Amino acid sequence: MKNLDYDAIVIGAGVCGIYQAYKLQQMGKRFLLLEQGSDVGGTWYWNRYPGCRFDSESETYGYSFSKELLKEWNWTEHFSPREETEKYLQFVVKKFDLRQHMVFDRRLESAIWKPEISGWELTTNEGDTFTTRFLLTAIGLLSSPTLPRYKGVEKFKSLSFHTFNAPREPVDFSGKNVAVIGTGATGVQLISEIANKVGSLTIFQRRPNWCAPLHNSRITSKEMNDIKNRYEEIFSLCGKTPSGFYHDVDPRKTFDVAPEDREAFWEKLYSSPGFGVWLGNFKDMLVNSEANAEFTKFVAQKIRQRVNDPKVAEKLIPKDHGFGTRRVPMETGYYEAFNQDNVKLIDIGENPIEYITETGIQTKDIHYPFDIIIYATGFDAVTGAFDKINIVGENKQTLREKWADGPQTHFGLSVSGFPNMLTLAGPQSGSVATNFPRGIEEAVNWCSQMLEHLFDNNIHYFNPREEAESFWGDQVREMSERILFGKEQSWFTGYNSNVDRNYRHKCLIYAGGQIRFRKFLTEEVSNGYPGFIMR
Ligand code: NAP
Repeated sequence: MKNLDYDAIVIGAGVCGIYQAYKLQQMGKRFLLLEQGSDVGGTWYWNRYPGCRFDSESETYGYSFSKELLKEWNWTEHFSPREETEKYLQFVVKKFDLRQHMVFDRRLESAIWKPEISGWELTTNEGDTFTTRFLLTAIGLLSSPTLPRYKGVEKFKSLSFHTFNAPREPVDFSGKNVAVIGTGATGVQLISEIANKVGSLTIFQRRPNWCAPLHNSRITSKEMNDIKNRYEEIFSLCGKTPSGFYHDVDPRKTFDVAPEDREAFWEKLYSSPGFGVWLGNFKDMLVNSEANAEFTKFVAQKIRQRVNDPKVAEKLIPKDHGFGTRRVPMETGYYEAFNQDNVKLIDIGENPIEYITETGIQTKDIHYPFDIIIYATGFDAVTGAFDKINIVGENKQTLREKWADGPQTHFGLSVSGFPNMLTLAGPQSGSVATNFPRGIEEAVNWCSQMLEHLFDNNIHYFNPREEAESFWGDQVREMSERILFGKEQSWFTGYNSNVDRNYRHKCLIYAGGQIRFRKFLTEEVSNGYPGFIMR
């Protein structure tokens, strides 16, 4: 068989692609990594908006695979800001000498399956072409940003940007009249960070989200030393929760607990750092509507206490969904920002945006002039990055065609009809619904083990079976039907009003948790890969 340029090509140099590159280097394979940005980092390279940070406890966000790395790296905040996480990923790449395999400023334009070589032919935006036996996509869940489809977006003459494409140089907000459209996790972080740095801030909100305090703080050197001594315990703990965080559901049910004890428990969760308030709550909070409504009332009260103007508070309290049934934005002073004189909330349900002008935003009632407009309007999530690449599999079918009614995959890691392709952080994967690096290590380890099996046994072709794919589709559906968020409009369920293609209410991720997911993956290996045709 004709020699191909590479054994494997990885697409994307974010958290996932970097680890996959490390694994391929360990295996001694000929591989290349293509990255559309000018450096490593993925999410942490692109999202340069003020306030960007993760909601994972920092020590649970790093890679666990190298004791040396764990010893050398010091986190400085309990919830690390973007800049530090980007530096961390640069540090990892340097330490393991991975840059030699990477080519930057290359966007993959097409990947065509070539049966005659049992491999893929890739073409980039720069016109390079490469052949590879295996194609490994690590292109991110939230890497295809979407602007609103208001008329005139391109007409605004002053500075405007989507948060994903925020300028590389810090923006000077002082004295500026700034608009933010969008109040998801991104908008909430951004608004909290810039509210006291701008002249005026006008927030255009379509639907409010239930937010909760992050309670971030510095990590002292004593704390960091302690963390270093406990890494084994930390990762073991994260491995035992469905979400890959420390936080695990409380085994009690809401109404089995006396009201005053319930209240005390919720007070404690609300004043503790991180996602405990969402993921460490009573076990029925995210699956039972009555239980959910009870906690939702508690959080609504908190918002009313924190926002001075009752009318504004009511606008910030979601009425169309319960707490935690969409992604909970974690905040630092978000609600208090609305008590500032220079901050104004526009409910675009009441006063819709009609179009963007050269100088500002025209709503139904008023024209608002701005110096800066920031679009925190989200992503064509999970499948959007795949749609941008012309991926053509067997029988000349494109991936876009195959996924016309929603993604179909085997474990979210491979797609029938698209041989020799592993979608490391793909739709329907259980790895991506977790504390990302924890799930990603699992997915990359599994895929690497499979690649070793293929290399060792001289297998040049694998293709997941259609039956395996429909089995997985059923699992994904069943899990999303069990939890309340499967019923809500959000990026988890393929909703985005700014794209033509919406997979309304088709869960794009496997919501069964990493423990169940791991069991499926382990069984697949121990049973000799029954879900795949291999030759
Ligand atoms: P998002 O959750 O999809 O939120 C987008 C926001 O823009 C929503 O408020 C949406 O309103 C609004 N919007 C969209 N189109 C609009 C339009 N045409 N007109 C007016 N408003 C519009 O996106 P995101 O905030 O970027 O967050 C995406 C995900 O990124 C998060 O869920 C999270 O997983 C991840 N993230 C993580 C962190 C972190 O780790 N701390 C931080 C930021 C983001 P509707 O709700 O009405 O659609």
